[in-house]
Amino acid sequence: AHLDRMAAVEPAVHAFLHVDTERALQTAAAVDAKISNGEPVGPLAGVPLALKDVLTYSGAPTTCGSKILEGWVPPYNATVTQRLIDADLVILGKTNMDEFAMGSSTENSAYGPTHNPWDLDRIPGGSGGGSSASLAAFEAPLAIGTDTGGSIRQPAAVTGTVGVKPTYGGTSRYGLVALASSLDQPGPCARTVLDAALLHEVIAGYDPHDSTSINEPVPGVVEAARSGDIRGMKIGVVKEFAGEGYAAGVEQRFGEAVDQLAKLGAEIVEVSCPNFRYAMPAYYLILPSEASSNLAKFDGMRFGLRAGDDGIAGAEEVMGLTREAGFGAEVKRRIMIGTYALSSGYYDAYYGQAQKVRTLIINDFDAAYQKVDVLVSPTTPTTAFRLGEKVDDPLAMYLNDLCTIPSNLAGNASASFPVGLAPEDGLPVGLQVVAPPLADDRLYRVGAALE
Ligand code: GLN
Repeated sequence: AHLDRMAAVEPAVHAFLHVDTERALQTAAAVDAKISNGEPVGPLAGVPLALKDVLTYSGAPTTCGSKILEGWVPPYNATVTQRLIDADLVILGKTNMDEFAMGSSTENSAYGPTHNPWDLDRIPGGSGGGSSASLAAFEAPLAIGTDTGGSIRQPAAVTGTVGVKPTYGGTSRYGLVALASSLDQPGPCARTVLDAALLHEVIAGYDPHDSTSINEPVPGVVEAARSGDIRGMKIGVVKEFAGEGYAAGVEQRFGEAVDQLAKLGAEIVEVSCPNFRYAMPAYYLILPSEASSNLAKFDGMRFGLRAGDDGIAGAEEVMGLTREAGFGAEVKRRIMIGTYALSSGYYDAYYGQAQKVRTLIINDFDAAYQKVDVLVSPTTPTTAFRLGEKVDDPLAMYLNDLCTIPSNLAGNASASFPVGLAPEDGLPVGLQVVAPPLADDRLYRVGAALE
């Protein structure tokens, strides 16, 4: 049924870069056989899922939305992928994304943008717009995203779906093509809070293949999603994430959701995080620095595209031509910024300084958690904007992640939950919840209370 749905809506939505029809049908049949034989299966056995094209799935192309990886087929599974396979989920295919997860609209994909199913002229968010759109268009009930600065939460907000960025180290990054290693985190995307929690439980937990993986029990996310009991919970409203630049309908729906949380027994407290205003500039030094280092492996020698084979040339020329042809404008921009920020003589002034700001942001969170159990804000300042509207203005594009970036810098758990439609345009609004590291269950408690 999901493959039929994809065949019907993909021409308009373009959520997928690759559909793995045969393997999906085989897996589904194998799960059926297991069940008829009375063999034990997991709680999500046989449920179809859409996988962001930044995670390896052995035998299926992995492009990260880039021309430079066109034709590359990984020989191994990411840990997240392996856990999906072991839990008998059915992987439908790989979803569209901004190139190497740089962007907020999927317009930076080298394979054309994804369209928001709520309004096909609008963006589905990014970088994981393919995953969120596949849910909103009912092409898949579950999806996997990755979040470096908001790429799970912002797409969830603008498509009216649920997206969770687990605590940094809570889900494995092994087999996730790295954008910024200290920020990246894979996580669950779904249409309901409980679905997201069930998927969270399947993919999370310690992985010896990832040196930043946390060796602790997975927080009780499913129990929290089933309960939704927030009586006595202290919820902090971040004062700085309101006012100028926030759409009226976003503020209205956010305010109503906070009132609802109070009615359900939570104590609402206003919280100030004065250093959050420096999160965006710090992020746009740390991310490009790490990205410029991580992307250095795409040199035309080892993976995918190789230019300059016709009658020339030295290694440098092959590298230059391959990168020229294979990387899009946003990727080149960030590699240049990162290389500059890391270069000798500038390192302390830029990268070092940004790392210090990162500590200030962690301190703001720590101070807030002295007073409250979780923080809330709108996920994004506005609803989905029109395709093409911000594509030539990187700074306007970056502002989408104003509210989501601090959590990545601090390694917090953070999620976006749908809280209705903005009256002015009828488009979905998301509420962001942030919890301390390893308290991912609190996110689900709040999400379930609002659902
Ligand atoms: N939109 C942000 C960026 O462009 C976040 C990306 C992400 O989380 N992968 O960097």
